[in-house]
Amino acid sequence: MRSAAGLGEGDALTRTGRSGITGAARSGNADDGARLPSWIAEVGVPAGLSVGTSSLRDDTFTRLTSMSDVARSVAKCTRCALYRTATHSVPGDGNPAADFVCVGEAPGANEDATGHAFVGTAGELLTKILAAINLSREDVFICNVLKHRPPANRDPAPDEVEACRPYLLRQLELVKPKVILTLGAFAAQTLLETKTPIGKLRGQVHLFHGTPLVVTYHPAALLRNPAWRRPTWEDVQLARRLLDSATRSGA
Ligand code: SF4
Repeated sequence: MRSAAGLGEGDALTRTGRSGITGAARSGNADDGARLPSWIAEVGVPAGLSVGTSSLRDDTFTRLTSMSDVARSVAKCTRCALYRTATHSVPGDGNPAADFVCVGEAPGANEDATGHAFVGTAGELLTKILAAINLSREDVFICNVLKHRPPANRDPAPDEVEACRPYLLRQLELVKPKVILTLGAFAAQTLLETKTPIGKLRGQVHLFHGTPLVVTYHPAALLRNPAWRRPTWEDVQLARRLLDSATRSGA
């Protein structure tokens, strides 16, 4: 299991496709960015960043029409050099039609050895965290930004993220989750296209192509720093409330 990435410094929010978002109570216009749908706004937490248009579409891997297709493609992928040093590809695990998706950073040693995401001690903690909000591993889909392990668990390089990102986008396009939970700074910063520290991204509802995205700490970080358990509990409860609101509203 990889540890969470180091926390980045604040950034200038300059990438295209991203803007601040407003709560439903605020009258929006094009310059304000997206408004939160009422089923998200009723959860009552501040609106964060918004990335992308309301429908996620990436043309790189449209030929991959199922999660099995994605796994097969990842297994023979040479888009970056990580396949050379990895033992197994780790495309992701769980329900391919899940309402709830967890996204971490990259496979670690246990994942590389088994080909499965979030196994080992931190994976067990994630299982307990999900159980605390009445979700089983079979209920959710769990994957990472990178599908092959960086050597010695080093931080992913920008070109590796760029090469691998279309797989994650295709997975999210196929699953169509109601809620995305990012685990650790790296996943949050990658999907939200920001370097804002995780502490400043927490406690808000971000939008990723119209899907609510909640940021929390990586389970491996919780093992090192128990003080982050309470904020993590608050984050996953927020994610659960969003899931319940989506279910109630039929979103
Ligand atoms: S990490 Fe991603 S882009 Fe790199 S070889 Fe593996 S699947 Fe391909």
